Amino acid sequence: MDDFHHTWPYERVMNDLYFEECPFCHASPVMISIKKEAIKGAFEGIKTEIIMPCCHEKIAVTGMDNDYIWADRPLR
Ligand SMILES: [Zn+2]
Repeated sequence: MDDFHHTWPYERVMNDLYFEECPFCHASPVMISIKKEAIKGAFEGIKTEIIMPCCHEKIAVTGMDNDYIWADRPLR
C-alpha cells in the first residue's frame, strides 16, 4: 500500500474526481468516472476499477486516501 510508484494524485472538485494528468496518455485534466460508493470502498481498501475516459486504460484501484489512489501496478 505504500509503494510510491503505485500511486497517482487526484483532485476532488465537489463530487467529481480529476487527474491533473492521465498516467498513460498524459491527457489533462481528466475527469474520473467513479461512484461515490466505490470511493468510500476504496478508502476502506475495497478494490474498484477506473476506466480512463481519454485512452480507456484500466486502473485496478486497491486503495485511496485524500490525495492519492493506489493501483495494483506501477503508474510511474
Ligand atoms: Zn489517458
